[in-house]
Amino acid sequence: MDTRIGFGWDSHAFKPGVPLRIGGMTIDHPEGLAGHSDGDVLLHAITDALLGAVAAGDIGSFFPPGDPRWKNADSAIFLRLALEELEHAGYKIVNVDTTLVLASPKIAPIAGDMRSRVADLLGVEMSQVSIKAKTPEGLNLDGVAQCHAVALVERTLDEDDLKSMSAVIESQRQLEDVVEDLLSQVHGVPKKRTIAPIFDTEDIT
Ligand SMILES: [Zn+2]
Repeated sequence: MDTRIGFGWDSHAFKPGVPLRIGGMTIDHPEGLAGHSDGDVLLHAITDALLGAVAAGDIGSFFPPGDPRWKNADSAIFLRLALEELEHAGYKIVNVDTTLVLASPKIAPIAGDMRSRVADLLGVEMSQVSIKAKTPEGLNLDGVAQCHAVALVERTLDEDDLKSMSAVIESQRQLEDVVEDLLSQVHGVPKKRTIAPIFDTEDIT
């Protein structure tokens, strides 16, 4: 199995008067996270983990913070871009594990809903998504939310599969050629045109 791993990290400061968005959910809380987009620290960390897994850059290289198009943007957009990059590279998600670091609100009571929401956004099962949370003990960072994320991805079709598929097609073609040669010798049946394989392994990278 051809697997790769990616890591992502993000942080945003708490700010009064904005909605708190974490994991694609709006959470009832007196303060939200300040950011050019909706400040969804969890989705940003996962986006970077997925992009990192296929060495496709980071969230800032696709969505520069100064670009007015991404002002207050729903961070699900960033995640979708990362999924497209992942698919383009020929990989799919095995699992994603995350740790939020924030003083409040408590994440444990809503972690199940959050896992379900993130799994929907990623197009995977809830069992493939882990969301944990810790308080920033001893860091003096109560006004900040941080998130760490790792993502394991695997090739959708590995090279051994491609080689064995092409070997089967090649052996079938050789067998057909032998049968047709025999038929033409015995009955004078003209040889049929050889049908090309349905795909070229060189084209699938
Ligand atoms: Zn961010």
